[in-house]
Amino acid sequence: MLKKKWISCLSKTRWGKTSFIAIIFLLSCSTQLKKERNLKIVSSVNYYKKQAVLNPNYILLDIKKNIPTVVLDIKYATLNNFSGTAVYKTAKAYARKPVVIALENVQKSLVKQGLGLKIYDAYRPYSVTVKFWDITPADKKDFVASPAKGSRHNRGCAVDVTLINLKTGEELAMPTPYDSFLNMAYADYTNLPNNVLQNRKNLQDAMTHNGFSIFKQEWWHFDFDGWQAYDLMDIKFEKLP
Ligand SMILES: [Zn+2]
Repeated sequence: MLKKKWISCLSKTRWGKTSFIAIIFLLSCSTQLKKERNLKIVSSVNYYKKQAVLNPNYILLDIKKNIPTVVLDIKYATLNNFSGTAVYKTAKAYARKPVVIALENVQKSLVKQGLGLKIYDAYRPYSVTVKFWDITPADKKDFVASPAKGSRHNRGCAVDVTLINLKTGEELAMPTPYDSFLNMAYADYTNLPNNVLQNRKNLQDAMTHNGFSIFKQEWWHFDFDGWQAYDLMDIKFEKLP
């Protein structure tokens, strides 16, 4: 009886020890890389820092700090967005280093025309993309990125932008407001006034001449060419070093 009890106690202890080690292992893995829907998603600040040392292009830079003349209007830090909630605690815009350099070149080309960039959104943590997908009606999901693939925003390689008059700070007339789910938001929609078509073309030209590609569904969204080289990230702005 005593022996039996002792064996059962030992096996419990062994099991306890093994599961303890397993839990520690799993916890350390989840702080390194979050694997969701078979995607590699970086959620560890330490992992991000290590990668940034190995490859300086990996670093997410504060766009406003690097290009002071750019105007930020981060709708997702306000209630004024399609989700109706402030999904960001701080109104910041980050992007990978080469993306910021490309934006700097865009801004330089625009300034010559008396224009400038206004940024609505840039790097977006993966968990926000999941939230947007969940709250978007089925017939409008064309307008939001699927969490099955993640968004180029999650990679720090996409920006949502418009043009402003540098002197007045006013936005130029564009086909729709930001995040509109109307067909008019398509980047090639043509049934629009001439000045709107011209403004959209100016924006598209400035972006495509400097390393960005047009996104068919949204006139304001541009992907940085070479986005495939960057991980999906799920680190909040406040945690970025
Ligand atoms: Zn976008």
